[in-house]
Amino acid sequence: MKIMDYQKVKAIKILQEQEVGSKVKVNGWVRTKRESKNVVFIAINDGSIIYNLQIVADPAGFDENLIKDITTGACLSVQGEVVESAGGGQKVELQAEKIDLLGKADPDEYPLQPKRHSLEFLREISHLRPRTNTFSAVFRVRHAMSYAVHKFFHERGFFNVHTPIITASDAEGAGEMFRVTALDIDNPARTETGEVDYSMDFFERETNLTVSGQLEAELFALALTEVYTFGPTFRAENSNTSRHLAEFWMIEPEMAFYDLNDNMDLAEDFLKYIIRYVLEHCKEDIEFLNKRAIDEDKMKKMGERSDMTLLEHLNFVINNDFERITYTEAINILRNSKPNKKKKFQFIIEEWGADLQSEHERYLVEKHFRKPVILYDYPKEIKAFYMRQNEDGKTVRAMDILFPRLGEIVGGSQREERMDKLTQRMKECGISEEELWWFMDTRRFGTAPHSGFGLGFERFIQFVTGIGNIRDVIPFPRARGMAEF
Ligand code: ATP
Ligand code: MN
Repeated sequence: MKIMDYQKVKAIKILQEQEVGSKVKVNGWVRTKRESKNVVFIAINDGSIIYNLQIVADPAGFDENLIKDITTGACLSVQGEVVESAGGGQKVELQAEKIDLLGKADPDEYPLQPKRHSLEFLREISHLRPRTNTFSAVFRVRHAMSYAVHKFFHERGFFNVHTPIITASDAEGAGEMFRVTALDIDNPARTETGEVDYSMDFFERETNLTVSGQLEAELFALALTEVYTFGPTFRAENSNTSRHLAEFWMIEPEMAFYDLNDNMDLAEDFLKYIIRYVLEHCKEDIEFLNKRAIDEDKMKKMGERSDMTLLEHLNFVINNDFERITYTEAINILRNSKPNKKKKFQFIIEEWGADLQSEHERYLVEKHFRKPVILYDYPKEIKAFYMRQNEDGKTVRAMDILFPRLGEIVGGSQREERMDKLTQRMKECGISEEELWWFMDTRRFGTAPHSGFGLGFERFIQFVTGIGNIRDVIPFPRARGMAEF
């Protein structure tokens, strides 16, 4: 039987919209095959939706060798008729008229089998892991979140600014930086006194990969009023945690004419908007990830289990007004808390001025307030130089947003717009005004009150997908000793 090529459609369309009786062509990768004498069932997946599309084939109509080569991981192009499904699982399936084997996958070598693999194992085959249910779900959600980020800001009249990835400023001191150089590292140009001579380097100065686009975004906020960056940032983090990557994506809105309260309002609206968007547009994936998280949880010890499911966590954020309290109030609560008195915290809170650890942040959110929390007015010593100083001489207009499971998810502040206060603070922090002359110019010419915040995109994806390790929510994780793929 010879057939013309039917119209190519994706599995999501067949499963959700295609009429019974229509003829289509679909391409995808084999997840499973079951066969009996009279019928072959092949489940294929093309990544357009979490569900597989079931292909039904009469073995009499196909070459025996072709059927044999249809194994897990192989790629097929199938043409046939959409029919009502006889089995339970789904409404429709595809009755195959023609099957082309586009790519074989030797079953003795293909590492993905239709069974549960650990995320650790899958990280070792990051090039193939998007073909699993969990990772395809995570990356579809990641896409939806990325789209929603742009949509949110665009709807509010913000402009997206692409800040540089290579930078000469180490101003923020936010972390260890990765050097960028074109010098011959075995034999670099040297000055008369023997130091590496960066004036001979490509940019004729020392350069690094950026740790944040904030300072550059500030320049644009003081011209376009409301802007945001959404790009990669790099930190040579040595901390081997489940929340830190060496390469991660950051969203940094920066707004002129916003005080700290406006900043908090924006951040709260933003977080809720993205979560609502995902709940509305990624229903099947979130349902799948929710079930997955429940199963994971069951394997944990009693004390380590979560008292909320993923879906409950997401609703917890969108249905609560975030609690806003000062750092000083938080310290008082923590000092008098049970885990502090009984020395259950790893870091005991004693003095005002202590930096909070994620165990403290989570206590405030999960146990004390049972709401997301925004802490503000932090001691200036534990925050960056550019944050606006309060009248008390001790605190700055910083704000951190704390979430369940993760602790800090957003860090932001009202910026110091007053030249004299800024230069005084830079002196105290040992930051060179000359190097940042362009930043100082914004305070010199037409300065204005302004604010902004930074959100680690992967941290947020971790929260939304319930995935425990940050390395599993970015396509190709970069961390200490990890850059293979
Ligand atoms: P942390 O204390 O968790 O290391 P930070 O204070 O260094 O965070 P900021 O410099 O305020 O973080 O960066 C803004 C946001 O970027 C953080 O709130 C967090 O969501 C995210 N972030 C920071 N470092 C990393 C990293 N190494 N990997 C992934 N996300 C990160
Ligand atoms: Mn850090």
